[in-house]
Amino acid sequence: MKSYHKELWFEVPTRRAFINITPQVERCLAESGIKEGLLLCNAMHITASVFINDDESGLHHDYEVWLEKLAPHEPVAQYRHNTYEDNADAHMKRQVMGREVVVAVTNGKLHFGTWERIFYGEFDGRRKKRVLVKIIGE
Ligand code: ZN
Repeated sequence: MKSYHKELWFEVPTRRAFINITPQVERCLAESGIKEGLLLCNAMHITASVFINDDESGLHHDYEVWLEKLAPHEPVAQYRHNTYEDNADAHMKRQVMGREVVVAVTNGKLHFGTWERIFYGEFDGRRKKRVLVKIIGE
């Protein structure tokens, strides 16, 4: 069995953003040389997510509105976590949007459904953060 891993770095200039990282993940898969196996991709920070969904800007706007209703950033004093930080909402948004995805690798490609793409969800940006890609197989 072969094993491969790589850490991808992101520095989002805004507090929140959704970034399609499918091209970077596909480059990792090509580098790995693995044709059949499993790919894990996870955020290495507790205020960022990795998830799979549609690359459609209206949906991303809808996520932003929905997440702000669930866990509004302001007023920051509403959260006990916000003592020396102001990112309690980011922890909650991360929990809802998820930590990681696992994708089957078939014939050297990510075995997606038609509209599936991999996204990095940033909820407390303006600093460098990492995403782990781990691939095992043959
Ligand atoms: Zn925090």
